[in-house]
Amino acid sequence: MKKLFFLIFLLYCLYGNSQKLQHIDPPFWWTDMPVSTLQLMLHGVNIGKLTPEFIYPGVTIKEVKSLENPNYLIINMSLTDVESGDIQIRLKEGNKTRVTFNYTIKQRTSDTKRNLGFDSSDVIYLLMPDRFANGNSENDTVDGMLEAADRSKPNGRHGGDIKGVADRLDYIKDLGMTAVWLTPTFENDMKPEYGAYHGYAATDLYKIDRRFGSNEEFKSFVQKAHDKDIKVIMDMIHNHVGDQHWWLKDLPSKDWFHDFEKYGTTNFRGEVQSDPHASQYDLDKLQKGWFVPELADLDQRNPILASYLIQNSIWWIEYSGVDGIRMDTYVYPYKDYLSNWVESVMNAYPSFNIVGEAWVERVAHESYWQQDKSGEDDGYNSKLPSVTDFQIMFALDRALIDDFGWKNGLSELYYAVSQDRLYSDPNQNVVFIDNHDIERFYTKMGEDPDLFKMGYAYLMTIRGIPQVYYGTELMLANSPVQGDGRKRADMIGGWEEDSRSVFTAEGRTTQEQEAYEYVKKLTNWRKNATAIHHGKLTHFIPEDNSYVYFRHTNDQAVMVIMNRNDQPKSFERKRFAKILADYSTGVNVLDGTSIDVSKDFKVGPKQTAIFDLKK
Ligand code: CA
Repeated sequence: MKKLFFLIFLLYCLYGNSQKLQHIDPPFWWTDMPVSTLQLMLHGVNIGKLTPEFIYPGVTIKEVKSLENPNYLIINMSLTDVESGDIQIRLKEGNKTRVTFNYTIKQRTSDTKRNLGFDSSDVIYLLMPDRFANGNSENDTVDGMLEAADRSKPNGRHGGDIKGVADRLDYIKDLGMTAVWLTPTFENDMKPEYGAYHGYAATDLYKIDRRFGSNEEFKSFVQKAHDKDIKVIMDMIHNHVGDQHWWLKDLPSKDWFHDFEKYGTTNFRGEVQSDPHASQYDLDKLQKGWFVPELADLDQRNPILASYLIQNSIWWIEYSGVDGIRMDTYVYPYKDYLSNWVESVMNAYPSFNIVGEAWVERVAHESYWQQDKSGEDDGYNSKLPSVTDFQIMFALDRALIDDFGWKNGLSELYYAVSQDRLYSDPNQNVVFIDNHDIERFYTKMGEDPDLFKMGYAYLMTIRGIPQVYYGTELMLANSPVQGDGRKRADMIGGWEEDSRSVFTAEGRTTQEQEAYEYVKKLTNWRKNATAIHHGKLTHFIPEDNSYVYFRHTNDQAVMVIMNRNDQPKSFERKRFAKILADYSTGVNVLDGTSIDVSKDFKVGPKQTAIFDLKK
């Protein structure tokens, strides 16, 4: 009798429990999708040997593929006029059904206030969910996950979450921000010593990290933001996944990741992708080297992996309603894969927008990554609408710190934008003065409030889509700690135990309040400043430590004067006469005072003065 039980138990292990599916990606799909194919990745012990079968109107199996590892099965399906419901899929070995599961096709939403894209009429607020606000202290530490929250560690997890952001959308809206970009929220179940609070080490691309919330919570967060007219930009990474991703515990195939033993870490020189003289050695090192040993480098030349990643983006766009994607480490993967990804996403969601993080030196390397680039035709078109404009940030840092000269100080800003012909559409560039990887702008400015304001006013008036990093509205400086945590301090008041809250006027210091009011005023003014959104940029060669530019349409004009001198400076009208001809006064958007622009005028010391020109 005992033997019989043992035999039954053994059979159960072999054919029952052991053949359970561990992963079904994507977890479900929809009717009426803008793409007509679906690639299912199934993962479970020995399921690669099984044959799928189902009957469902509108859905047919195009191809079944197995991978090197017998624990994976790929089913490519085509969908036409499919209705919502459950597809009962049987995985068979000969005549015997080994696994049965239901795959759900949901009704696609008819809600139109989603996938809206973003453009130069927006201002993007970038925040790190772990560091912004803790809306739910219950999820700070989750049983079974590798890292617990500990706010005493500047480079550890602090417990901020999606609910924390959702609860403070009014704060973000009041500031004048119209879009929010959250650093990645995918599951990052990494070892504590790595410090994956930043989210760039995904261990499951179909799950929101439980310490941030749930998939459903992310979806309702997007809905809530939309209800307040705030767009949401999702951060994605196709260059790598975390070394604790389930793929690494049961490798799909040898060519899923690049060989770390062979290529080591990357050279971080994205420029080799656009360099006509680059060596294959450097290119291999860039594309195949790993970012760090904990981030397994994906080989997107594998077509099943490429489809998986593209479909993952489409799934999140459809599921959550997000309006845009910021793609991390854009210059590292194979560029043909990237253009294919962009095209697939933009064809499916034409009103959407994507910005690629192209952290490179020099305008020509930056512009290479925007669609329809100019210059020698090497056959590449990225199709990418928007790039992160690192060149503007580099120039601004030097413009406000270095002494003025023919090519130094404010002249840097002139040289930066005077190369705009290299971009197909510079007004689509995302411009910024700092972000989560860069020293805090206030720190870069030597903690000089005047220089801080000069830089922020430039950000609000130059061409492009401005992005503001959380805390910058408070002139937050770097923290005196080691590691990336120095630029990623918690927002004070985001945690219940904090002694004050920067989210309220009473909780802010005098200096924080001064910065807050300045940022709020300018950002809200920008909301309706159509000449800033899409007006022409006309600038004048910097002279005597000052720089003057205009943003103008046929019936609206804004004059911006950057005066870095410690004294007031006079300006001769005749230089600007052509643009000023239609206008008599300039109203300072900050304090409402006016200047007469029908004659020479004066601007105060160390400031970026912005004038709405009136007829
Ligand atoms: Ca929490």
